[in-house]
Amino acid sequence: MVQIFEGGSFQERIYVINDDNTGVTGIIVLHSTVLGPAAGGCRFWHYDSQGEMAADAVRLAKGMSYKNALAGLPFGGGKAVIQRPEGDFDRRTVFKVFGEAVAALNGDYVTAEDVGTTMADMRVVRQQTFYVAGLETAKGMAGGDPSPWTALGVFQSMKAAAENVLQFELRGATVAVQGIGNVGSGLCHLLKQHGANLVIADVDETRAAVFATELGAKCVGADEIMEVDADVFAPCALGGILNVKSIPKLSARLICGGANNQLASDADGISLVEHGILYAPDYVVNAGGIINVSAEYLQETTFQVEQRVNQISGRLIGILQQALRQSRPPGTVADEMAQQIIASTRKSEAA
Ligand code: NAD
Repeated sequence: MVQIFEGGSFQERIYVINDDNTGVTGIIVLHSTVLGPAAGGCRFWHYDSQGEMAADAVRLAKGMSYKNALAGLPFGGGKAVIQRPEGDFDRRTVFKVFGEAVAALNGDYVTAEDVGTTMADMRVVRQQTFYVAGLETAKGMAGGDPSPWTALGVFQSMKAAAENVLQFELRGATVAVQGIGNVGSGLCHLLKQHGANLVIADVDETRAAVFATELGAKCVGADEIMEVDADVFAPCALGGILNVKSIPKLSARLICGGANNQLASDADGISLVEHGILYAPDYVVNAGGIINVSAEYLQETTFQVEQRVNQISGRLIGILQQALRQSRPPGTVADEMAQQIIASTRKSEAA
């Protein structure tokens, strides 16, 4: 593993994983370790180039710094991305190499699942290093699949933003959910229980159709979901979907979902304000997963996780109200709050 860069405003560090024996390649980014070890999951995905992979990792790691800071966790922000090989490959080998890379960072980075990785992968990582969460634990203790906690935080945030800020009932409202993977499907179940109407889409059309039948939801094509008539749009797939092309087509008044890095750029946050669409910053509302991961690492209980996840929606309301008062994008308000938390910790350490 070779370190290629150290510097930047948050002293970020970028490590390139390049294993000649197995061909495994990837990148680990430590965006900030001011608040504690850099914590964030490992994404296993196909990228067209190393530059694209690095850009994704840097963006995701920065989001983790801000997410962890705002959630009040004693962790900095980091992220790993591993290039998904074409054709057949041995998963154990991939995650053994990744585990060795995490071990080499001596606790500066703590990993867990993200898109494309599973608990079984993290078990392989655990054979190489202690610095991994997202594994099974004893009853009552935090641990395991983080996505139900992510879905819960998103649901509670959506309900609070709809009812306390935009003054409409989520019960009976229509929510368009993009992506029905771990987070999206959990969110759909909570919305269904609450009496919302669901429109769903996934690139896996067969799974989407089966899931829609089970839930009594309407199913549309993945290229249509952002344009359907809905009160809320919930992005629960990949990032960059709120952009110059998609924003003018949205009919929803509220955007609140689990996907990371939903805004393609900061300018798109401003565009949402101009279009009168309220955006719940992704890393604020989807913090439930990392709250569970960090509690597992710190050997805390499920009860402690629940208490912290329950605080997400209140934090969101504070951010949205400040943003509306100042006619500014909620994402910018959240970024500034997170930067202040990190900066004041750095200052008090230096004093
Ligand atoms: P997942 O892989 O289980 O689900 C993603 C789903 O999105 C898949 O079903 C996939 O087929 C679908 N998808 C991909 N591209 C699509 C498109 N263009 N249109 C419609 N569907 C599409 O992943 P997940 O764990 O549910 O995570 C979803 C998002 O939430 C990711 O951005 C992830 O980084 C973020 N997130 C997840 C967690 C967690 O606890 N799992 C925590 C925080 C943030």
